[in-house]
Amino acid sequence: MDANRDTPGKAPTGSDTGKTDSKAAGMNPYLGLVSSLRAAWLTGKTRTAEHRISQLEALGRFLDDKKQPILDAMASDMRKPPFEVELSEIILVKNEVNYALNNLSSWMKDEGVDKNLVTQLDTAFIRKEPYGVVLIIGPWNYPLQLILVPLVGAIAAGNCVIIKPSEISSSTEKLMAEMLPSYLDKDCFAVVTGGPAETTQLLENKFDYIFFTGNPQVGKIVMAAAATHLTPLTLELGGKNPCYVADESDMQNVANRLVWGRCFNAGQTCVAPDYVLCSAETQEKLLPALRHAITQFFGPDPRESPDFARIISDKQFQRIRALLGSGRVAIGGQTDEKERYIERATTTQEQILAPLLPIVTVPDVDEAIAFINSRERPLVVYVFAANSKLVRRVLERTSSGGFGANDSVMQMTLISLPFGGIGNSGMGLYHGKFSFDTFSHHRACLLRSMGLETMNSLRYPPYSERKRGLVLSTFRIKHTGTCTLL
Ligand code: NAD
Repeated sequence: MDANRDTPGKAPTGSDTGKTDSKAAGMNPYLGLVSSLRAAWLTGKTRTAEHRISQLEALGRFLDDKKQPILDAMASDMRKPPFEVELSEIILVKNEVNYALNNLSSWMKDEGVDKNLVTQLDTAFIRKEPYGVVLIIGPWNYPLQLILVPLVGAIAAGNCVIIKPSEISSSTEKLMAEMLPSYLDKDCFAVVTGGPAETTQLLENKFDYIFFTGNPQVGKIVMAAAATHLTPLTLELGGKNPCYVADESDMQNVANRLVWGRCFNAGQTCVAPDYVLCSAETQEKLLPALRHAITQFFGPDPRESPDFARIISDKQFQRIRALLGSGRVAIGGQTDEKERYIERATTTQEQILAPLLPIVTVPDVDEAIAFINSRERPLVVYVFAANSKLVRRVLERTSSGGFGANDSVMQMTLISLPFGGIGNSGMGLYHGKFSFDTFSHHRACLLRSMGLETMNSLRYPPYSERKRGLVLSTFRIKHTGTCTLL
């Protein structure tokens, strides 16, 4: 892993990839890097359990050793409170590392499958094979976690990997480029830094798998680049997550859980509840409860609270401030450009990745469902309701990457649940075992014996009616059970 060799035009160092030479010759500046990783992949070293374990352990050590630099980098990028960094960046990745280490040997085992009559004496199984050279591209809002959690899966599955953190969270990008390489096998893992221009050049190369987290527009660019090489990919994209609040809910609990999910990381969370759908009566009860929760969490002047992060960049700040100007602000809404501070606000305008919580009033749950279904499919649908039938109704009649009832964001704490979007919010799954499977090709294997040729010869020409009957009976799957539609 070498942070220097990724900068186009920078002189190669030591046993570097010859990228500058490639550039001078008019070739892609990352060709050398990708080729060197492919050469390492072809040696087979990343396939062994020992190599995977040693790299996962090294990643765990990186998180332990560099905890303070990680806290500092995120403080510098968006003044993210240490509590939030530990919970949503460090521990989350460490859990993935430990979970992968605990389960790797069983995940790597060949999976036996059912056989038909002809293959009874043979061996049939699914082998989880690494894809090869993988590219992981991340966004700025959870700059460490959204690179390293996929990396855990890619390492566990036995791949070589290039990671491309977001250039916008520049302190965390620098930390990963400068500190991570010394922990991992430099032949197999590399960090590339830079923005859209560098990513575009990187994407011109052939990868065996691409894992992208970012916005849907850029997702389309990445998918088009992947299509050039027929590279499979996962897209973890954005969207607006609706939250229906039923009339009979305990409003203070609802408000506490909503405000926590919405204000964590200053609202810059892809699974945060983005807007509330409720009746006008519920809105009347919810607004004071939200106000109370905000004051309880952040004090009378939230700007002074050490527990409220800042907006990542001036560009994002301007976008959010413009939104505030276009809606009726019911709570909060103060801003400070110098600090990129935006007081969490409740407006009637919808938007994501900011501490804003628009409220849209609807007469009932059916209207709420219709509202949700008339828009792009979100990453998460949330519902707050004491009535479990109502929760089930929203679950059954909407579609989204994930679903949460009576809380926000907490589904992310379960490593046993897959994480991913659907439609506009993405495609593919990861976290825990799902990450391992995502970065593994499921290779279908049948190892036949050379015996029983008389039985095998039934399928060879010349065909006959007798052969047809016998062969079909050995392959046929009979419908055994009954299916009752209730
Ligand atoms: P982004 O798509 O702008 O950037 C993501 C990555 O793509 C960065 O590394 C960036 O350098 C690169 N990139 C940007 N423009 C590019 C281009 N034209 N060509 C090639 N590469 C390009 O996303 P962002 O602003 O960093 O992150 C915010 C977005 O990510 C939001 O839409 C949010 O909802 C989404 N997000 C999704 C998840 C999820 O898990 N589904 C998690 C976090 C964020």
